[in-house]
Amino acid sequence: MSIPPIKIVPLFSGSSGNSVWMRFGDTRILIDLGRTAKQISEAIEQIGDYPSRIDGIMITHDHTDHMSGLDVFVRKYGIHVYASEQTWNGLRMNERKPHSEVLDHVIEPWRSFRVGAVDIMPFPTPHDAKGSLGFRFSAFGKTVSIATDLGYFSEDVRKAITGSEAVLIEANYNYDMLINGPYPWPLKRRVNGQNGHLCNRDCAEAIRYLFDSGTRHFILSHLSQENNSPTVARNEIEDYLNQHNLRSGEHYSMTIANRYCPTEPLILEAAKSFSEDESGMIFSSEQRMIGLGEAT
Ligand SMILES: [Zn+2]
Ligand SMILES: [Zn+2]
Repeated sequence: MSIPPIKIVPLFSGSSGNSVWMRFGDTRILIDLGRTAKQISEAIEQIGDYPSRIDGIMITHDHTDHMSGLDVFVRKYGIHVYASEQTWNGLRMNERKPHSEVLDHVIEPWRSFRVGAVDIMPFPTPHDAKGSLGFRFSAFGKTVSIATDLGYFSEDVRKAITGSEAVLIEANYNYDMLINGPYPWPLKRRVNGQNGHLCNRDCAEAIRYLFDSGTRHFILSHLSQENNSPTVARNEIEDYLNQHNLRSGEHYSMTIANRYCPTEPLILEAAKSFSEDESGMIFSSEQRMIGLGEAT
């Protein structure tokens, strides 16, 4: 029997609301619920899954575009939620707190925990929300990371996601469009600041660095509607990478998360060293050899 693959589907992306669905074997994880519970439930059904099957919800931070549907979703489906202490405080203040204490889990940066088959490592992100986090997910010999809402590609983020096979990363704005665009100056300064969002150029540099560390799949996310577009982001980032002899489709894959509907899934096969025995338990080849050794 072959192991089910790893599947990543951004459901919604951008300041109008963010949510990412992932499946590692039989373990389903949702990152952020920045649309209504109904919209997110429908999006999950649209991709062929059931909201009640989600094993854990990670909340990156307490901005509305990441948590507005959380309380209704959790009250309806009773799913465990993982967030930092500061994010929980923010959720309580915004009355977005789920209503069952047993489902609340307080997590800390750099302290990994497990949900189903997946090891999850939260890491700090530079953003203007207290306790904001990104996540690195590892299962079946593969690592996938999520890093959005980044003022810059910080040392912490770099350290946490280096070596991931796939990375969902923010490409929020084109610098010239932001500076010359309609935003009032304080908002421009906030977006462009060290605790704001990541511009296309900084994203391109991050992708180049990550490519060198082995990442081959990139999903651009959280694009600004006013200061970016899928075409602008793709052109700017691909131009930069072309200048460094990295060509899309040849050296790496790059997709752009849709704003209002699920994006084409990114599918990764489990590492070859993993196989499944008849009871459905999953071992690495090394563990299997140890198990066989004990039986004889
Ligand atoms: Zn934010
Ligand atoms: Zn955001």
